[in-house]
Amino acid sequence: MLSILISFLLPQAFALHVVIDAGHGGIDHGTSKADFKESEVALDVAKRLASKLRKKPGFKVTLTRDSDHQVGLLDRAKIADKVRGDVMISIHVNSSPDPKAKGAEFYFQNQLAADEESMFLAHRENSEPAEAASKVDLPVLQGTAPAVRTILEDLLNADRISQSSELCKFLKKSWRGHHKHVENSLYQAPFVVVSETHMPAALVELGFATNADDYKALTDTKYLDLAAQSLVDGLTSFKESMDKHFPRALKSPQVSNQ
Ligand SMILES: [Zn+2]
Repeated sequence: MLSILISFLLPQAFALHVVIDAGHGGIDHGTSKADFKESEVALDVAKRLASKLRKKPGFKVTLTRDSDHQVGLLDRAKIADKVRGDVMISIHVNSSPDPKAKGAEFYFQNQLAADEESMFLAHRENSEPAEAASKVDLPVLQGTAPAVRTILEDLLNADRISQSSELCKFLKKSWRGHHKHVENSLYQAPFVVVSETHMPAALVELGFATNADDYKALTDTKYLDLAAQSLVDGLTSFKESMDKHFPRALKSPQVSNQ
């Protein structure tokens, strides 16, 4: 009885619905080298992440794929929107012509012109026949006049990008795997999966299959488990920040037509 009373008195922490997207799949292996397939490593970490989050209170999980099959880039974003996820994490493995390039990188949608490196990577991670983009209509935008709608869309998008940036910062801070030699590992890039969703989204490149140290780590299940745990810790910090600063009631703005 007391616990019911307390739960009414305390601010309600919400369950964070995490959409986990294992990159590539099916005939699309992503980065591959000998027996190594990016699609398999991404799925392995995605499943570990899902299993760890499901054991924690306050998290709900949806996987865009839970087996080795192909899912279109826009379909991944549509799945995330359809299940009304709160955040999306897309998991990938990097590659580079420079064998010294190593460590994890964290990407969120760009609003400004992307730099050359990001454009290159975006091309690689977006290398799928272009589909006609058909965005899901958000309830908050339905029935609004076109002029109001444009303003609302801009506001919602700016807010989403800002939250995506926060999400990436928390993921980077909690990362206990290999780091890049240079300080910066946070980037903005026009990836379809993080740009076409309506929720904060991050694309994580776990490491470089083209780097000897990263390759060794990415073929070690202990390292993949550490990577998944790092993502759990980053999401937990993000959730704590959201619970503190964005009460659930404020997350879905209601618009009056009056
Ligand atoms: Zn990839």
